[in-house]
Amino acid sequence: MTVFLLFIFSGVLGAYMARHAPDVIQAKEADAGGDTILLSTRLITRYEYELCGHVITEESDMPREYIGLNKQELRALLDGVSIVKFSSEEVILEERYDCYCEQHVLAYLKDGSIEIYRCKHASDTFELIERIPIKESALSIESRQGLIRGKVFSGITEAEEYVKSFS
Ligand SMILES: [Zn+2]
Repeated sequence: MTVFLLFIFSGVLGAYMARHAPDVIQAKEADAGGDTILLSTRLITRYEYELCGHVITEESDMPREYIGLNKQELRALLDGVSIVKFSSEEVILEERYDCYCEQHVLAYLKDGSIEIYRCKHASDTFELIERIPIKESALSIESRQGLIRGKVFSGITEAEEYVKSFS
């Protein structure tokens, strides 16, 4: 008798599960927007640099850990990155940095030298790329003050040309 009741119960439960399971799956798919990342999905990243306003767009290989993810899962994985477009054909991400892009350099006067820094790609940090000794006495008060605050150049050649006049 117990076995028989158990059999009926599991039958009822089975019918219940069968009726409700498709709804659950459909709801999940609707949430995800359907598309997932495939091996063939193109990955494009737009790097926006706030200080110079330049946008650098790069296409890269899809990281293995992104494959199979839907938009929500990808969003959960990425911190500080906007998903501009999401489809199985193409994913476009956008990263913003409070910095200059790699084209520009910054020059600072420090301990009798001019230090030239460049903003690292996809980062808010600067790295020292060159230290050029100068004759501080050759600097005008204005140039000196400018270099203490930091002077921006459109490229390394322009910065070196400027520094040459004091060295
Ligand atoms: Zn720039």
